[in-house]
Amino acid sequence: MSNKFVYLFSEGNGSMRELLGGKGANLAEMTNLGMPVPQGFTVTTEACTQYYKDGEVINDDIQAEIMRNITELEKIAGKKLGDKENPLLVSVRSGARASMPGMMDTILNLGLNDEVVESFAAKTGNPRFAYDSYRRFIQMYSDVVMEVGKKYFEELIDEMKEKKGVKLDTELDADDLKELANQFKAEYKAKIGSDFPSDPKEQLMGAVKAVFRSWDNPRANYYRRMNDIPSDWGTAVNVQMMVFGNMGETSGTGVAFSRNPSTGEKKLYGEYLMNAQGEDVVAGVRTPLTIDHLKEQNPAVYEQFVTIVNTLENHYHDMQDMEFTIEDGKLFMLQTRNGKRTAAAALQIACDLVDEGQINKEQAVLMIDPKQLDALLHPQFDVKALKAAAPIGSALPASPGAACGKVVFTADAAVEWAEKGNKVILVRLETSPEDIEGMHVAEGILTVRGGMTSHAAVVARGMGTCCVSGCGEIKIDEDAKVFSLGGKTFHEGDYISLDGSTGNIYGEAIQTVAASISGNFDRIMKWADEFRTLQVRTNADTPKDAVQAATFGAEGIGLCRTEHMFFEGDRIKAMREMIVSKTEEQRRAALAKLLPMQRGDFEGLYEAMGGHPVTIRFLDPPLHEFLPTAEDDIAALSKEMNISVEELKAVVSSLHEFNPMMGHRGCRLAVSYPEIAEMQTTAVIEAAINVKKAHSDWNIVPEIMIPLVGEIKELAYVKSIVTSTADAIIAKAGCDLHYKVGTMIEIPRAAITADEIATEAEFFSFGTNDLTQMTFGFSRDDAGAFLGSYYDKKIYENDPFARLDQKGVGKLVKIASDLGRQTRPDIKLGICGEHGGDPSSVEFCHKAGLTYVSCSPFRVPIARLAAAQAAIKFSK
Ligand code: PEP
Ligand code: MG
Repeated sequence: MSNKFVYLFSEGNGSMRELLGGKGANLAEMTNLGMPVPQGFTVTTEACTQYYKDGEVINDDIQAEIMRNITELEKIAGKKLGDKENPLLVSVRSGARASMPGMMDTILNLGLNDEVVESFAAKTGNPRFAYDSYRRFIQMYSDVVMEVGKKYFEELIDEMKEKKGVKLDTELDADDLKELANQFKAEYKAKIGSDFPSDPKEQLMGAVKAVFRSWDNPRANYYRRMNDIPSDWGTAVNVQMMVFGNMGETSGTGVAFSRNPSTGEKKLYGEYLMNAQGEDVVAGVRTPLTIDHLKEQNPAVYEQFVTIVNTLENHYHDMQDMEFTIEDGKLFMLQTRNGKRTAAAALQIACDLVDEGQINKEQAVLMIDPKQLDALLHPQFDVKALKAAAPIGSALPASPGAACGKVVFTADAAVEWAEKGNKVILVRLETSPEDIEGMHVAEGILTVRGGMTSHAAVVARGMGTCCVSGCGEIKIDEDAKVFSLGGKTFHEGDYISLDGSTGNIYGEAIQTVAASISGNFDRIMKWADEFRTLQVRTNADTPKDAVQAATFGAEGIGLCRTEHMFFEGDRIKAMREMIVSKTEEQRRAALAKLLPMQRGDFEGLYEAMGGHPVTIRFLDPPLHEFLPTAEDDIAALSKEMNISVEELKAVVSSLHEFNPMMGHRGCRLAVSYPEIAEMQTTAVIEAAINVKKAHSDWNIVPEIMIPLVGEIKELAYVKSIVTSTADAIIAKAGCDLHYKVGTMIEIPRAAITADEIATEAEFFSFGTNDLTQMTFGFSRDDAGAFLGSYYDKKIYENDPFARLDQKGVGKLVKIASDLGRQTRPDIKLGICGEHGGDPSSVEFCHKAGLTYVSCSPFRVPIARLAAAQAAIKFSK
């Protein structure tokens, strides 16, 4: 940390983003480029972190440095803060390293008081304008610095308008505004208990402090969590000479993008208002004009602006989002930054910039936010229809996309209604694997319980179905088929809409439009593939999902959760028969029924992946998940199984576990019932042999993956079942088939004994869902309920189930990778937990030297791009 906390714009430059924030660095850069920038200075991000270190005070040294820079600014401006003859007015604005639009605070017109406003009125010859600026300042300062709500002031404005019999603010005259300024100060005193500060220096320190404080407001914290911005970065504060767009008809203010931010089209795009301040453009009281009008209204300013826009684009090699003000016919640039844009525009702009020779392919790949691609892969709401709708609640955005349909409360009802041509939304307390078919046919899924890696979330993301989970505000009665939320009650058949990207829930039908993938998308992805070294596989359980993933560029299956195959149609019956079997013989008979089904599934997967590697994970969940819980379901099953209800209930209760996530699951099932592993091995090997026959040119090498291993001997035991079964089949078939047996590393003990585990395992796949759960010691299904308190208290900044905890869980991944390589230098290392599709986690995997990441089909393009970005960033 340096001991300089304040930089004049002329002292900084564009590369000092970390210290000066984006806005400060760009104002300095524009100053260096000789552009008309109202001068000022930036209080650094380090001053902000110092403010927090000092217990939320601006220490004396920093205050003194700010005041020295005010003196410098006064010299540049030829005006003085608080001066009655020639007063300097400033704006005080936030500006973090990463842009966080609208999340933090701004104060304009600082420096006004009862005396200054008089001379300001005289100097500008415009008392109305002066008093309007003053009352706006009091209002903004009271709101932002002292946290007196805006509404009190708005009420006073309304009263004044009523008294004067006018409708618009602009119809109030100078005397009215002067009177309002007095009323505002009285309101301030009534609320705060002291006079409104008239000393501009006191005003300034209050404003700087308020901006520092706004770094920590709830909406800024939420925005940072959503966008992976660390909370210790802090914000800079820019203190800049005011210029006025509201000084009359030769003044104005506006915003413009150098290209269209919705489509990416290369055309200046923007709007402005004459005789207005920035907030008027945003507030939408008056309709702004498009930037093209400026050409007619003031051709000289327009030409100057266009030249600046082109210079800035060529300088930054990216689309710029700019704010400008015209003060009495003179143009000033208030801000430039790389503009936010839709996913489609991002792709268009990146491709165009490459074609224009402004950037190379690496830069194009780096300029796209991988998470944004998601928007191109799922149906979206019609923008107009969405604007017109108001959410009735919100919860976790568990699986993106937009969904609109009729409410159903059971998976069976979902199937029934969908078969009749209805679009449905499945609303459940929570989903279970039994609901899989209903989830498949539903447009969207809404659950009352569950987090980002709960069953509903994982399965929905895998299918690419929109899902909003964990909406605790819902009151639901599944039996009565009714739920209520946001004061409204919904019955079966009522329409609702879900936004899986924001987590918003709407109590009405909102029209959706299908996602479209343009040619630019493909072009960028091909460039990404040229750079990345990490392979990208998919987690897919069905041939349909595998085909979808292959079209998105998956290079194999990194995880097939075989249990998901046991829930469809008649299979569940055979599965339940297997579970309630009392003898090995009975169990084998039930497994024999499952064998051809599994074999068929695996054949489908091999076919879909066209010779790419396929990793099949053996049965993992606790067996009770396959058994019914409702009385009538139990009765029906007992009839089917030909056993008494009591007997069946006894089986169900014998399978009850206090903590099933740490219970009889994973390889423990195969240790107890080796015949399950035998059947699954048979299905895998026979399917491979069959598909190999049809495609002799495909190099099919089945990868059998044993889950939840914590001890080398349990892996050795299960592997012995696999190899003896597989070798016998291969020998009998007389064919040349190689296969691999590997394991998931998802228990901390496996990670720290990975050198031993690798003596048996030919590959590792990090199951970071369980590894996170077991490393933190909290349940992946329940953590959602209390993580909110952890964010509020700043104990965690992110959901460790969504973004890999690199310090703890990541350390285990590194330890296991190193130990594994010690034993088996060419060991294949992958990740198949949900983190495999999260960009920051993909970057970690690249750095850890993994072979591949595996993620749900709809995240494959995201992972491809993130892998390319990591390769580009770390090859330098
Ligand atoms: C994991 O634990 O990370 C994993 C991929 O397995 P599952 O989510 O099926 O437990
Ligand atoms: Mg697991």
